[in-house]
Amino acid sequence: MIEQRRLCIISGPSGAGKTSIYKRLLAEFPWLRYSVSATTRQARPGEEDGVDYHFVGRDRFEQHRKNGDFAEYAEVHGNWYGTLRSELAAKTGAGVLCILDIDVQGAARIRPEYPDALKIFVKPPDVATLESRLLGRSTESPEVRALRLANAVRELEEEKFFDYSVTNSDFESAYNEVRSIILERKGALDNGHSV
Ligand code: 5GP
Repeated sequence: MIEQRRLCIISGPSGAGKTSIYKRLLAEFPWLRYSVSATTRQARPGEEDGVDYHFVGRDRFEQHRKNGDFAEYAEVHGNWYGTLRSELAAKTGAGVLCILDIDVQGAARIRPEYPDALKIFVKPPDVATLESRLLGRSTESPEVRALRLANAVRELEEEKFFDYSVTNSDFESAYNEVRSIILERKGALDNGHSV
């Protein structure tokens, strides 16, 4: 059984800074877990299979999808990404919280089944900032960056479905905001309060 109050969904457009935020949270708090997603995307330099993602082929991904193994899945910028239920079951339990870094389509799909999960939207201060952050990622081709930007603008409209929205203009402040939200949930669970 997956304890949904122990799930913390961090979502928002690519380039909003979700990854830097969750990585620092994981480094700071030993009781935090990370839901490693399955993806059909190729590994980037430095990424490790089973740590950053479970890098799977399209056939394997499709098999998981047909088996109902995913709590949610979505096609993001031409690749498939999905959260395995087995991953959530393995990474929740007494004393821990599990972070999911998923796109806004995935967050919309997981919401009905896990309504009590904590949902945090991270957004850039404005579209111009988002564009310059995406351009700064040298790993992506110009076509991929353009696609990501167009998707990001649409994704900003999903903000209203989240419990909290954090604007990442300054990384330290955004980090501290997300940190406080997560600490509040952890404290409530530790004290046996309903959230
Ligand atoms: P990247 O390819 O840059 O690692 O991630 C691209 C996007 O896919 C990010 O917005 C990330 O949050 C999202 N993503 C990563 N894993 C999942 C997942 O399991 N499900 C969904 N729906 N999105 C994911």
